[in-house]
Amino acid sequence: LLSVSHLVKNYGAKHVLKDINFDVQEGEVVALLGASGSGKSTLIRTLNGLEDYQGGTITFNGKTVQPSKATWLELRQHIGMVFQSYDLFPNLTVLDNLLLGPLKVQHRDRAEATKEAKTLLASVSLAEYGNSYPRQLSGGQKQRVAIARALALHPDLMLFDEVTASLDPEMVRGVLTIMTDLARQGMTMIVVTHEMNFARQVADRVLFLSDGTILENEPAKDFFAQPKTKRATDFLDSMS
Ligand code: ATP
Ligand code: MG
Repeated sequence: LLSVSHLVKNYGAKHVLKDINFDVQEGEVVALLGASGSGKSTLIRTLNGLEDYQGGTITFNGKTVQPSKATWLELRQHIGMVFQSYDLFPNLTVLDNLLLGPLKVQHRDRAEATKEAKTLLASVSLAEYGNSYPRQLSGGQKQRVAIARALALHPDLMLFDEVTASLDPEMVRGVLTIMTDLARQGMTMIVVTHEMNFARQVADRVLFLSDGTILENEPAKDFFAQPKTKRATDFLDSMS
């Protein structure tokens, strides 16, 4: 589904991603782990066409990802992304937040899209909140809306960047449960997370990023049982 080959990205003189190579197969759940500043968010943003890059290739669904507005508009219909900050549209109801993409970008039928949006809201346990505004929701609820909004476009791939990092502990579980369900339903996902239990239970594979380089690309089982590198061992120790 996704293939990254010799990807290089610099911010000015700063080398942030150095010769990154990996593939993601359909249905795979990949945990992207690494210390702060290792390049996780930059990689996620580059995959999605939000950042330009200086070398290598990114191929998604057989097409090259070029960092241009046109690519990004096309890509966002196929790659759903959820960040740490939920950035819902504050002036739209929850339901209208979900409908914006399907109606404005995909020009789908309103009745059909509305029916599906309501089903999606129910699937994130927010069936009663369609007419609420984002400010009336808790952080965890907003994050569940953000996930439902991404799913409303029928993505082939979901990217998650620390979606639970700014949530109160009691809100984290609800969001992780939804992500776990999504994974079990076969969604292809790349997940940046500090929740090691979640990564251990849900991920098929771990990419361990260190200083802009992939140090490990292993089945999650193997990575968590015994990382190959000292850096990854130290990282896991620091997370427990
Ligand atoms: P964290 O776990 O803290 O979110 P991360 O792994 O997501 O970290 P990135 O945000 O990808 O790390 O940052 C990787 C490196 O790139 C860091 O050294 C950071 O300072 C640098 N960087 C990120 N964004 C920019 C930018 N817009 N301009 C310049 N440097 C940047
Ligand atoms: Mg980050």
